[in-house]
Amino acid sequence: MSKDFYEILGVSKDASDAEIKKAYRKMAHKYHPDKDGGDEAKFKEVNEAYQTLSDSTKRAQYDQFGQTFNGATGGSSTSGGGFGGFDFSNFGQATGGQGFEFNFGGGAEDIFSEMFGGGRRGGRRGRDIQVDVEIDFFEVIKGTIKEISVYKSVECSRCNGTGGEPGAKEETCKTCGGSGHVQKTMQTILGTIAQQIVCNDCNGKGKTFDKKCSKCKGVGHYREEVKESVDIPAGINDGQSIAISGKGEIGQNGAPAGDLIVTVHVKSDNRFVRDGYDIRTTSHINFAQAALGDKIDVETVDGIVKMKVPAGTQSGEIYKIRGKGVPKLRGIGRGDHLVEIIVDVPTKLSRKERKIIEQLKDLQ
Ligand SMILES: [Zn+2]
Ligand SMILES: [Zn+2]
Repeated sequence: MSKDFYEILGVSKDASDAEIKKAYRKMAHKYHPDKDGGDEAKFKEVNEAYQTLSDSTKRAQYDQFGQTFNGATGGSSTSGGGFGGFDFSNFGQATGGQGFEFNFGGGAEDIFSEMFGGGRRGGRRGRDIQVDVEIDFFEVIKGTIKEISVYKSVECSRCNGTGGEPGAKEETCKTCGGSGHVQKTMQTILGTIAQQIVCNDCNGKGKTFDKKCSKCKGVGHYREEVKESVDIPAGINDGQSIAISGKGEIGQNGAPAGDLIVTVHVKSDNRFVRDGYDIRTTSHINFAQAALGDKIDVETVDGIVKMKVPAGTQSGEIYKIRGKGVPKLRGIGRGDHLVEIIVDVPTKLSRKERKIIEQLKDLQ
């Protein structure tokens, strides 16, 4: 059972971004664990709610699906090889030994620095990564799990992100004195401006090791191809996105990772056309079937279904096969399958057919 994020923040479902931010600020202040009467569990809950409701993609997803998605299975790492189509090498480059800052997401971060005077140490939340995935019509009907390859920064598996060779001796960084930041002053026409930048020697960790990790050269992370499984629910629409929490770029110094935003594209099908939760097809019958009525075979996503065409059916009439449409994303049930009947007029007649139709003409 997922939590009601609106209830947690005490706002209505149609609250504006400003109202959500205001409510979050109030709640975060009330429950902050550093304060008297703070409540860490509540504080976490409030944060979780805000992370979702302050992000338009995640909020839309939450409104629609009643949850945000977590990876179907944990990401497994592979090194190199067979990586197709996704290149995010321009995102947050982790150049060896260089301090880098993520300037993305983390609306909560801004509020924190406003509230507590930037007292929160550590890094910024990782960037979101957006990928596209294509599925076919039948995957929309059944739902599917897609494995996608994402090229992103991950925590070093050798040193678990510390940057030190296993067994190396840890010491406080001499350059920054353990703060992870150094002040850089710049002379400008407005005077001297002091800027805080990430310490190059410890990459913001505040600690160095007598021996740097041989795999990541002491950075604590590196970029590689990671396979992620994405659970795509039945009924999803072309162009809809799924946000998978924490599967984006790694955060800085223990800050949360960004999200993986998967935008789903649905290949068109030459038999079935989607119309909301209904599926439309056309079926051709001949003049005699239309006049006398018949039972015809209709191809649905569940296979062939026998459908009755009543006597006197006109071309363009639409008949409904209940419950053979697209599954509803939220809640239960499915749309219907709608069959448009086309009555074919013969273009070539045998001698016998011609005679019969001429007799029919004389009768009318
Ligand atoms: Zn390492
Ligand atoms: Zn340092």
